[in-house]
Amino acid sequence: MRSVETLNFKNRFVKLGGEFYQYKAPAPVTNPFPVASNPDVAALLDLDPNAFDRPEFWQSFGGNHALPGAQPLAMVYSGFQFGNYNPQLGDGRGLLLGEIENDRGESWDVYLKGCGQTRFCRGFDGRATLRSSIREYLCGEAMAGLGIPTTRALALVGIEELIQRELPEPAAVLVRVARTHMRFGNFDYFHYTNRPGKVTELADHAIHCYFPELETAPDKYAQLFAQVVDRTAWMIACWQSVGFAHGVMNTDNMSLLGETFDYGPYGFMDRFNPMFIPNHSDMHGRYSYAQQPQIGHWNLAKLGETLTHLVEPERLQQELERYSARFNHYNRTLMARKLGLSVLDAEFDSLVSGMIQVLSRHKPDHTNFFRTLSGFRTGSLATLRSYFPGNPEELNAWLDRYTRLLEREDITPEEQQEAMDAVNPKFILRNYLAQGAIDRALKENDYSEIERLRVILKYPFGDQPEVFRKWDIDPTHYASDTPEPYLGMQVSCSA
Ligand code: AMP
Ligand code: MG
Repeated sequence: MRSVETLNFKNRFVKLGGEFYQYKAPAPVTNPFPVASNPDVAALLDLDPNAFDRPEFWQSFGGNHALPGAQPLAMVYSGFQFGNYNPQLGDGRGLLLGEIENDRGESWDVYLKGCGQTRFCRGFDGRATLRSSIREYLCGEAMAGLGIPTTRALALVGIEELIQRELPEPAAVLVRVARTHMRFGNFDYFHYTNRPGKVTELADHAIHCYFPELETAPDKYAQLFAQVVDRTAWMIACWQSVGFAHGVMNTDNMSLLGETFDYGPYGFMDRFNPMFIPNHSDMHGRYSYAQQPQIGHWNLAKLGETLTHLVEPERLQQELERYSARFNHYNRTLMARKLGLSVLDAEFDSLVSGMIQVLSRHKPDHTNFFRTLSGFRTGSLATLRSYFPGNPEELNAWLDRYTRLLEREDITPEEQQEAMDAVNPKFILRNYLAQGAIDRALKENDYSEIERLRVILKYPFGDQPEVFRKWDIDPTHYASDTPEPYLGMQVSCSA
């Protein structure tokens, strides 16, 4: 087990050279204190969880003390924001401290978000609100619990600074942990400043660090691109399956390794709605739930453009065009699991489109529709029916078709329910639940709800009676449909 002093940073990104980043120490903060600490992420870093009990942890990750071996840097990148190229982005308020390789040979980037201005801050204050940091912390855990690739956070450090947004707000420093902080935007930056050699260096770095098995392949750059295509398709298929909308799928928020990255005005849909737009600023719904698969393709096309000096255009196009097939494959596979079906034929596809029509018309709670559907052959149909008031025929007709397909499967209704409950979450990070944790933190300096949500979201597929009792968690409350007054809340971008 390691301590804060013996985390043993390696700094591979540094080797790329000064054109890729700015060296910068975190800005000092006033009285850093614990808001949240995550033993599961500590375990990924082989960090002794007792480290959280020492003031030194909060001083170091708050930004007041240098961490032994870390070489903090702000990466330069650019990106397409809402479809328009912005040449001037980069880590304006975040620093990569370095990578930690654990005893299992996994490398993890450790990064501070909200740790002061850098050369790339564009006049912004370099800080992050406590509110948005709590949202990022919780959603990383929600995704990890659901088995969806994501960045996570080791800790959330409260600081006494107030920062100006619409009103003055408390700030925080998030200690983010990810497989990589390389974004599509890193490639955009060097491509659009006409430095193809630097794009090559980035691609070589990515291959060396993340796909070493490709290093000797003659078509390694094409294969790198193919990997990104595949991982992005998988990530977005996972999002669709749980009703998650990222909110700001700009190319600077797209991880090269297909991890859900840079949580801002994201949301899990409450009632089923393909046009679900969590981001208040997304007037035209560019990043609505239903658009996400296409936007994945659009972003990958932009990444492909940066590689044109490395890969034949026909090959790039071919790899890009595989995206749709990969996405559709993953999407159907995940939907089949949600429905407890394994025969993916034309009847299955027609059942799914029928279901989407029924859901679009009646708008039941997306999560609880699937959760109650699992038991429709073993238990009471009352809850499921309550989502379709006044029109039982439509539901019944669809359930009849569904039953016919289930009968083709070689499993009992009990086995089918168990299989479905293992993939259809009971607990998701509903916006109003996250907001409840934020309100308590801001109004009462009470951070216990953040911890409670961390624990629930670790077990999204079912109750853990012992664990939940220990944390005083009432599962019924967290599993219920979002109460009417909280439906349709959007999140503002001001982070
Ligand atoms: P985001 O919306 O968090 O993806 O950020 C987009 C860009 O704005 C990135 O270059 C960020 O580093 C930068 N940025 C956002 N908020 C701030 C802030 N408060 N201070 C400095 N840079 C920021
Ligand atoms: Mg960003």
